[in-house]
Amino acid sequence: MKRTYFVEAMRSFPYSVRTMTPSAMKERSPISRRARAVEESVTLAMTERAARLRAEGMEVLSFSAGEPDFETPEHIKQAAVEAMAKGYTRYTPSSGIPALRKAVAAKFRRDNGLDYEPAQVVISCGAKHAIFNAFLALLDPRDEVLIPSPYWTSYPEMVKSTGAKPVLVRGSEEASFKVAAKDLEAAVTPKTKLLIHCSPVNPTGAVYSRAELEAIAKVAVERGLWVISDEVYEKIVYGSTPHISIASLGPEIRERTVTVNSCSKTYSMTGWRIGYSAGPPEIMEAVAKIQSQSTSNPNSIAQYAAVAAFEGDQSFVAGWVAEYSRRRDVIVQRLQAIPGLSLSVPEGAFYAFPRVSALFGRRHGKKKIRNSAGMADLLLDEGHVAVVPGEGFGSDAHIRLSYATSMDCIQKGMDRLEEVVRSLA
Ligand code: PMP
Ligand code: GLU
Repeated sequence: MKRTYFVEAMRSFPYSVRTMTPSAMKERSPISRRARAVEESVTLAMTERAARLRAEGMEVLSFSAGEPDFETPEHIKQAAVEAMAKGYTRYTPSSGIPALRKAVAAKFRRDNGLDYEPAQVVISCGAKHAIFNAFLALLDPRDEVLIPSPYWTSYPEMVKSTGAKPVLVRGSEEASFKVAAKDLEAAVTPKTKLLIHCSPVNPTGAVYSRAELEAIAKVAVERGLWVISDEVYEKIVYGSTPHISIASLGPEIRERTVTVNSCSKTYSMTGWRIGYSAGPPEIMEAVAKIQSQSTSNPNSIAQYAAVAAFEGDQSFVAGWVAEYSRRRDVIVQRLQAIPGLSLSVPEGAFYAFPRVSALFGRRHGKKKIRNSAGMADLLLDEGHVAVVPGEGFGSDAHIRLSYATSMDCIQKGMDRLEEVVRSLA
């Protein structure tokens, strides 16, 4: 089109359209670039898919959600009932009720050797929210964030939604996928601002040893990185490697770390949405400010329940972990016996992460398995077994199974999984 005609034609469009470049017009959408860059949570999507099929009458055995299957203990529920009866149903201080911030500070001292003042603690709507807040408090667009991979599915998406850039650092499968400090160091650029560290790891079940943590802390201190340490599975460890909070390794790393944790896994309180974080005062003030302008306080009743969780009996947790450990032994042994699957034994959390790539290219009837999503689809369609594709955790060669489910479900699920795999041509 000749330029004069083009200008004439453009005059008939509204100003906002006229000022757009042709390529911007093409990709015109009311949705922000940030929102478009973010993927839906694969763990939640698979959990919802399984629930939908179940509602339609299908007997689905679900290994999808990373969620304890135990009931929230009675004394915690009772504290919530009492909080309601007492009328604690209004706004609380945005960063949480003083009693809970104090209980969390005491918990960090008791369990993690970390000395935080209650003023350095912020209570949020789950660890997910606490991590999001910390990212918002620390990241500017184009900052780079080191994410050990395989990773919990939400980290890169959260980073992207701040405008910063996720930089994946792959752990070696032979080393239980743990990322070596030297590999983290090699990924540092002048733009690297932050490292998100998680142990025990979702999805691999790896637990970092003291020596490994010391090496990572050294890199963070020497290269001036901030650290978010996600410790939501701290209580769920089976082997001889204990959980250690990276911030407890010395004053220098402590001053650079935001420690995040949650009531979700330890106390089976996933639906209550209570997570918490603690760190250097300047960062926690920024976290508190952001929270005050977004969600305000977490649910008031759940906060009173969380006080009871921290201050009440803790002995049931060991019983739950013993049960997870029995389930782990069964699921690992069953998965290892299936031809084409291989896995390293998880030492913590409640996930098995078998490699399934040896099955890619095989067929079930007309369906050919091409990747982890194809494998998950086949298992759901043919075996009515819900697993999460490894793709969502940064490893398309694997699938993730949560064994926070009954032994009966594990045995039946493994029967079906084995049957589907053995039927492949
Ligand atoms: N971190 C990790 C590694 C997780 O697996 C989860 C799963 N829920 C969370 C954080 C968030 O937990 P929540 O928001 O329920 O406290
Ligand atoms: N963290 C759990 C999981 O990985 C719960 C779902 C989620 O928030 O991702 O399955």
